[in-house]
Order: sequence, then structure tokens, then C-alpha cells
Amino acid sequence: MKLWSPREMRVAPVLDSERNALPVQARTALLINPFYPKDPHASFGKHVLTPTLALTSIAAATPADWQVRYWDENLLQGSPELEPLPSVVGITVHLTFAQRAYELARWFRDRGAMVVLGGLHVTSCPDEAAAHADVLVIGEGVQLWGRLLKDFEAGQLLPVYHGDYRQPYRDLPSPRRDLLPRNSFLTTTSVIATRGCHNRCDFCYLSTRGLHKPYQLRDVDQVVREIQKDNQPYAVFIDNNLGSRKDYLRLLCQGLRPLEKIWSAAVTIDVTDDPTLVREMALAGCTGVFVGLESLQNANITSANKKSPNTEDYARRVAILHDNGIQVNGSFVLGFDHDDPDVFARTVSWIEANRLECATFHILTPYPGTPLFAQMEAEGRLLHKDWSRYDTAHVVFQPKQMTPDQLLAGYAWCYQTLFSHRSIWKRRPVEIRAVPMYLAMSYLYKRSNSLWHMLIKYRWTARVWSPLVELSRRRHVAFRKRLARHPMVGQSTGNIVSAGV
Ligand code: SF4
Repeated sequence: MKLWSPREMRVAPVLDSERNALPVQARTALLINPFYPKDPHASFGKHVLTPTLALTSIAAATPADWQVRYWDENLLQGSPELEPLPSVVGITVHLTFAQRAYELARWFRDRGAMVVLGGLHVTSCPDEAAAHADVLVIGEGVQLWGRLLKDFEAGQLLPVYHGDYRQPYRDLPSPRRDLLPRNSFLTTTSVIATRGCHNRCDFCYLSTRGLHKPYQLRDVDQVVREIQKDNQPYAVFIDNNLGSRKDYLRLLCQGLRPLEKIWSAAVTIDVTDDPTLVREMALAGCTGVFVGLESLQNANITSANKKSPNTEDYARRVAILHDNGIQVNGSFVLGFDHDDPDVFARTVSWIEANRLECATFHILTPYPGTPLFAQMEAEGRLLHKDWSRYDTAHVVFQPKQMTPDQLLAGYAWCYQTLFSHRSIWKRRPVEIRAVPMYLAMSYLYKRSNSLWHMLIKYRWTARVWSPLVELSRRRHVAFRKRLARHPMVGQSTGNIVSAGV
């Protein structure tokens, strides 16, 4: 089935090669998030849920006598402005948009700006990136940025700067959210409380060779203050796994509870080991979790080196979250070695039986530098190294028990089935009062890509969603009061905001 996908969602804006620029302006920096194509099977909305913190955190480390600007090409406002031409351009580079990052680097370097490349792909493939940059930043960039700009002014730039993730994370400055176009995001309150993960799954970017991200925690007060300061009803924790340290999560929940805000976060399913912790999360405003369930087959989980409860216990654990009014966005990886062509129907049928409000599918993708990549390369199973297609929406390796075409078709089928009227209805909350809100959320989020395109392009995202988010917050505050009085009150509340919205 051909899916609707406008050109602006597929193709990066044109960089006008004819266009010249005025001379560079001293002490000005521009930070760019390059364009990446959007998978039309999934909701376009997920790209403007909340901003990443990479560039706003770098911006916060800019010396006071510098001017810094931010440009995200994915907000559909065209290519970055050339005037005033910045003296330094910082570009974040990820695998799937590495080519676009290099095009932007060339465009600015040709006009006299000094280009710094950083990000995960620079850490995993520094030799490739070096050909496109004046300076590379490998590893944590925030701690280096101020020094790098001073070296630039002194004419003493190094070709490569190495940042260390072992530096105390709590000492880094808070992100400069004021640089963000607020209306372009559902919420600008993206927050990180912890860094790293207790797992090191073979397929996860966290297991990239050379990436040493020890587990770190920020002070609860610091996190709470940051959320309060941004003054929005909804926060999204973009931690890899907010539940890695359960004692910390409990303390964080106690800090968040008085704020009467709502929030969502990524956690592993073992967060349900202790149902009282799940209840604390709900009482603190958690309305949705994004859970990397990955697979319903234990053999796949074990071979990926993921420490996780038995998959046969997943249903009971999902019910614990639902019983506390927390919606579940389950994340599934398709194409593991123990997956045969039945995996698609089995996975969707399980999602429907357990009434997951949302699910996200990924085709197994061996990221360079990970153990999975090394394994696939050693076995001669990589189909190509076109990084732009290493985006979990394309098949880039030879699966064991099906053809690449079967895997791709099965992935598309999972999304189409899950976003169908029948499946949305089948997964509706048990509690009848929650159904209208659930349906509104499902249809707006999952079946309205043409609407999302307009919202993003005309910067209406926040304006259109704000009333729904506020309504959801009020409903949740009322729900929390009932939950606090009666521990078993907690059938799905059908909040408009879940981990997937
Ligand atoms: S549990 Fe999730 S975040 Fe942690 S290593 Fe595995 S895939 Fe990565």
C-alpha cells in the first residue's frame, strides 16, 4: 500500500550553491540538527513531541560574549539562514543523516565558517567524519564547547577534542530551551535525569565501541527545578531508561508529585518488579511509558544480551502499569535470528490482546561499532553500508529465517494493522469513560499524518495540542486523588498524553 508522504518529509531542503554570504561575523555560533527522512508508516507527530537536548545543552555552554542560534531542519522551515554568517557552525551527526550533515558542513565551509562535527556517528566513525569537518568532537561535547570556542579565538584549535562521559553530569549547565521555537513542539520540557543504562544490549547504540557512558544521576532537586522553570504542563524524560535505579526513581517521583504535572518516560519492563513503585510513578504524574519489550521470544532477548524478565510475564506486567493508569507504548524489534515469518501476526495479536495503547516497530539494525554490527559483518550478512538506510525502517542485513522483502513487508503490515480502525477499537480502555479520549488520541496521533505535516510546517503543534494536554493533566490530577485514596482505582484513564504522543 502506498502511503502519503509529502516531499518535505522525505527530502532535505535545497542548499543554494549560487548563494553567497557576507563575511563571517565574529563570535557567532550556529548549531544545526540536520534533516532526516520520516517513515510514513509511523506518526509524523513523534518528531515534534519534544526536542532533543544535544544542541540546547551545547548552547548552554557557549561563553557569554558569543551569540548562539539554533536551527532544526526537521521543523520544515527550510535550510539554515546564512545571515549573519556564523564564524562557527556546530552540526550533530547521526548515522541516518550523516550525508546531510556533511552537505551542510561543505556549504558553510565553502562560505568561510569553521565547522565542528559531533554526535554519536562521529564517535563511531571518526575517520569518515574527519574528511568533512575542521574539528571533530568525540564523546561528551558540552564540557568541551566553551574551551573549543576560546581555542578558536586564540587561533589554537585542535583537530579533535575528546569529551569524557565520566565527568559529573550534574555539573553541566541546564539546556538553553529559550532558543527553541516553542510552538513547534508538543512540549519543550524534555528532561534528562539519568544517563546510561544498566543493560548493554548488543543492538543498542549504547554498546557502541568507544562510547563509555557510565550510569549517572542528577539531583532530584535539580531536575524538579528544571521542569518548573520551563512552565509547561507536560514533561518528557528522554533518559535511555529512567527506571535503571529504582531507588532513585522513587525519590524522583516524590520530588515530582507536588508539581501536579504529567510526564512520560522510557523504562524497562522490570520497573514493574515492585508494583508500589509503579503506583508512585502514577501519583507523581506519569501517564505513559515507552517500554523496550523488543521481542516476545526469550531466545531473542537472551541472544541480544538483554537482562529482562521472562517474556511470558510481560502481559501481567503491562497490566500492572494499566492498573495504575499508565499507558504503554511497547517497542518491538523485528528480524532477530529466532523470528520467523509468523512473528508479525503473533506480535500484533499480543499487542491487541493486552490493549497496548501504542506500539513502535523497528527493523533490527546493526549500528556501526556495536557487537551486533561486528557479528553481522563477520557472518557476511550486511547487505550494504548505506548509513542513510540504517534507520530501523529498512532492512540492511540478511535475516536468518525470512527474506529481506518478507521482513520489510511484515514491518509495514504491523504498522498498518495497528493503525487500522479495527485495531484501535480493539485496544480501547476497559473503562468506558476513558474511551473518547483514547480514540481522540489514537486518531490524532496515528491516523493524521497530513494534519501533522501542516502543524509542523505552520508551527501550530503546541497551539493545537495545548488544550488537549491541559485537559489530560486535569483529568490525571483528579485520577491521582482517587488513586491515593483507593489503591486499586486505576483502570486506564485514557489520557491524551502517552509515551507515544
Ligand atoms: S535496555 Fe534499552 S537503553 Fe538499555 S542498553 Fe538495552 S536497548 Fe539500550
